[in-house]
Amino acid sequence: MAGRIPQSFIDELIARADIVEVIDARVPLKKKGREYTACCPFHNEKTPSFTVSEAKQFYHCFGCGAHGTAIGFLMEYEHLDFVDAIETLAAEYHMEVPREDTPDSRHARDEKQPLYDILDQASQLYQQQLRQSDRAVQYLKQRGLSGDIARRYRLGYAPEGWHFLLERMGNKPLIINNLNITGMVIEKTAGNRYDRFRDRIMFPILDRRGRTIAFGGRIIDEGEPKYLNSPETPIFHKGYELYGFYEARQSIRNLERIVVVEGYMDVVALAQHGIGYAVASLGTATTKDQIQKLFRTVQEITFCYDGDQAGHRAAWRALENTLPILRDGLEARFLFLPDGEDPDSMVRKEGKDAFETRLKTAIPLSDFLFNKLQSDIDTDTVDGKARLAEKAKPLLSIIPESVFKDLMYKRLSELVGISETKLQPGQAADAPEQAQTPPITSPRSTRAVKQNATRDAIALLLQHPGLAKASEIPEYFASASIQGLPLLHALYRTVRENPDISSSALLERWRDKEDFSILQKLIQRNVRGTDEKSEQLAVFSDAIQRLIQKYHDERFDTLETKLKQSGLNEAELEEYKALLRR
Ligand SMILES: [Zn+2]
Repeated sequence: MAGRIPQSFIDELIARADIVEVIDARVPLKKKGREYTACCPFHNEKTPSFTVSEAKQFYHCFGCGAHGTAIGFLMEYEHLDFVDAIETLAAEYHMEVPREDTPDSRHARDEKQPLYDILDQASQLYQQQLRQSDRAVQYLKQRGLSGDIARRYRLGYAPEGWHFLLERMGNKPLIINNLNITGMVIEKTAGNRYDRFRDRIMFPILDRRGRTIAFGGRIIDEGEPKYLNSPETPIFHKGYELYGFYEARQSIRNLERIVVVEGYMDVVALAQHGIGYAVASLGTATTKDQIQKLFRTVQEITFCYDGDQAGHRAAWRALENTLPILRDGLEARFLFLPDGEDPDSMVRKEGKDAFETRLKTAIPLSDFLFNKLQSDIDTDTVDGKARLAEKAKPLLSIIPESVFKDLMYKRLSELVGISETKLQPGQAADAPEQAQTPPITSPRSTRAVKQNATRDAIALLLQHPGLAKASEIPEYFASASIQGLPLLHALYRTVRENPDISSSALLERWRDKEDFSILQKLIQRNVRGTDEKSEQLAVFSDAIQRLIQKYHDERFDTLETKLKQSGLNEAELEEYKALLRR
C-alpha cells in the first residue's frame, strides 16, 4: 500500500501545472481576449460557452455551470479520483509522486495486511467450496446466473458446520486472532468459537483496489436472517463501501452512470443481464459518503427501490444525503419498481432492454422532492403554500451554491407564490443597491453590513493568497457563529502556514470539505474595485474591518439578551461593558 502524497508536493504540482495546457491537450482551446474558449466537453453545444482563465487558473462553463481547477478538470473529464488525477498531472509534468513512508503509515500497513490476506484466503476457500457443492451451484443456476458472472463477482459458498474456516486455516493463535478481528468467527466464550457464515452463498465485498474487506452471505433455503454481513472491522466501514463498485469499474471503461439497488443478488442479476453498472449500499439507507464516492466517478446516479413504503423511505433518505453534494453537472434520479418486484426479479422477467428503458423513466430528484412534499399538502390554499415553503426551505438550503440550487428555489417560488429572494436567505444581500431595513429588534445593529463583506473577503483571499501576509484576521473568527467567518479564518491560517501556496492549490485543499462548492463559486467572483493590484489590499482590509464590527454587534446583542433573561457572569459583563464603550 502506498503512503500518503505529501501536501507540499500537491501544492507545488498545482502551482506548476498550467490549466490552459492541461485542458488544451484534451479539448483544443481558442484564444479570445484574455481567456480561452471551446465547446464545452461536459454538455452538448454548438457555440462555445466553456472558458478557461489563465490568470485565475480556473475553467467555467456558462452553459452548464461546470467549473474547477486543473485537477477538477481531470477528475471530471477522465473520471478520476483525486489521487489518480494528481498522478496523471504529475506524469504530464514529468514529476515523480513522492509517498510519505512514516513509521505510522508503515505500522498501520503491517497491521492491516494480514487482515486482507486472511479474507482473501477465506474468499478462495469459499469459491472452491462453491464448485464442489451441487446444492449451491443448483441454486445459482436456478437464479439464472452463469459461471462467468459467479467468477467475476467471486461468488462462493460457506459450507454447513461450525468450524470450516478454523479447520481449513489451522488453529494458530495468530490466525484465530485475525479471523476474530475480521468478524469471520464469533467467539462466545474464551475458546468457544465458530464460523459466522454457515451454509450461505458468499458475496465478497471489495474495496476500490479489489481487495476483499468483508462478506455478505445469503441463505440458500428459507430461513432467518436472509442476509448476513460482516461486522464493522478495522478494514470495513459499512457506511463507506458499496457492493459491486469495483466490479463495475473493472468491467466498464468510462463508467458514466450507476444504479444503486438494495441487494447483492440484484447487483449480480443485473450484471448477468448485461447491466454491469449496479451497486448495492450495505445497509438500508445510502449514506452521504457512499454517494460522494460514486459522484467522484460518475455524473449520474439512479436510485432504484421497491415501490413499497420501505422503498420510499429509503429513497427519501438517499435524497436527503444527496442534496448536500449535488453540484452542477451531477444528476440523481429515482426509480420505483412495481409492488412485489426487485431488480433481480424484474430484469429476469423483462430483460436488459426493457429494464434500461425503465431506468430512463426514473424521475429527477427535483420532481421526487417536490412531489413528495406536496403529496399531503393542499397547495391551493394559503396555509398549504406556507407549509410547503416551510418544509422545502431546510432541504433546499443544504444544496451547494449552484445553478441547480437557484432553479430549485425558482420552482419553489412558483409553487408557493413567494419571491425567490424571500425564500433564499442571504440572497437578498447579493442584489445590487437594495434598500435594507435593519431589524426593529436591534436598533443599535449595523446588521446592514452586507453579507457581501464575507463573500468579498473570502473571494479576495482565495484569488490572491498573498493578502494574508499583509493582514491580520482575529483569532475569534475561528469559532464565530456568523456564517463564513470560520471559513475565512481557516483559509487565512492555511495561507499563513503555507505562504507560497497558489490560488488553485488553496482551493484544492478544500476538495473533500463541505465548503468546497462555495469556494469554487467565490474563486470566480469579481469583487468590485479590485482590478488593480494596489486596490486589493484596501478592499480586503475594509471587508475585514466591517466583519469585525459585525461580530461585535452580534456579540453585543447576544450578551444583552442574556443580561435581560438570565444575567451575565463576570467575564461576560466585562465584555459587555467593553462593547458598550465601542
Ligand atoms: Zn458546459
